[in-house]
Amino acid sequence: MEMKNLVIVGFGGMGTYHVELVGAAEGITVTGVYDIAEARLQVAKEKGLQTYPSFEAVLADEAVDAVLIATPNDSHKDLAIQALEAGKNVVCEKPVTITSADLEAILAVAKKENKTFMVHQNRRWDSDFLIVRDMVQKEAQIGNVFHVESRVQGANGIPGDWRHLKAQGGGMVLDWGVHLLDQLLFMTDSRIKTVSANLSFILGDEVDDGFTSFITFENGTTALIEVGTTNYVKLPRWYVKGTEGTAVIQDWDLSGEIIAPDRTVAKVEPKPIQAGQGLTKTMAPPSEESTTRSPIVQVAPDMAGFYDNFVAVLNGTAEPIVKNEEVHRVLRLIEAIFEAGEEGKVVYFNE
Ligand code: NAD
Repeated sequence: MEMKNLVIVGFGGMGTYHVELVGAAEGITVTGVYDIAEARLQVAKEKGLQTYPSFEAVLADEAVDAVLIATPNDSHKDLAIQALEAGKNVVCEKPVTITSADLEAILAVAKKENKTFMVHQNRRWDSDFLIVRDMVQKEAQIGNVFHVESRVQGANGIPGDWRHLKAQGGGMVLDWGVHLLDQLLFMTDSRIKTVSANLSFILGDEVDDGFTSFITFENGTTALIEVGTTNYVKLPRWYVKGTEGTAVIQDWDLSGEIIAPDRTVAKVEPKPIQAGQGLTKTMAPPSEESTTRSPIVQVAPDMAGFYDNFVAVLNGTAEPIVKNEEVHRVLRLIEAIFEAGEEGKVVYFNE
């Protein structure tokens, strides 16, 4: 198989990580790096990578099949369009663009030039997500899933420098939100009905330092998506309710459990418990005798790795796992979240 040559554009935190990702795939290799910062080019040289003096020099190099764009969010659109027009295939970091209209502009060029454009929505391969997706799609472990809560929470504020700036596409909706929303739409086979949201500005930045969004789907599924950077105590990564049980995944270490009714034994009536200044049967825990507890079990990915898929797409032997229309839908959902949060209203999603 002919080797595909990839040049990394933007050799910061994520660009550097792509060297490993590409290294783990077949049929593609990182042949060079371009970054506007001389210090980053120096780091690339120390890693034995060829560097380019300008983006134009990357595009002029006929040996380059594809570029990876891992620069701040506001620069993705122009860099992608330039690369596609120069006849290069493009992998772009998330969030692909700041608006859905910007993505449409890129896709029009990709179509005209007949080049591949794929967005690195890497968290479709996260183990915790694959477990929840399996629950949703197979309806085996907790029956029909009707409510999903997906959260990431930290106490370290908005990271870095450009992520604090609106003009550069900063803020946590565009940063972590795009991952959680992409996961949600990738596993939910239904049209979105409504979107409500609260944007957090606790830290005083011009961009959101987190958000909470409640999303309803036409099939009755509801989802609560939350990203926080001011959480000194964090809630579980996933809380999932189905008609036959509840699953909790605490963290990326996959700690957690599934508690489900045991249909092989007669239901044991709950006993009233003392709750504060009263008694309750309704809120008593389910009886141990008529429920089962199971650990969270890892699910193997049923799809090729990101770069293996990219190479197969370039060779015409596979469809992209991350489809541009899916990425576009996520951006439209993000726009609905901003609209709902900024205007304090429920947005009826049109699709
Ligand atoms: P970073 O600030 O660490 O690195 C960005 C690099 O781009 C810097 O070295 C900077 O000098 C360089 N740069 C800026 N403008 C450039 C230009 N016009 N041409 C060439 N180089 C340029 O940022 P980061 O954390 O690596 O984020 C980069 C992108 O990767 C963002 O879009 C971010 O959202 C994404 N990202 C994705 C994930 C993921 O899990 N998929 C994780 C982190 C970051």
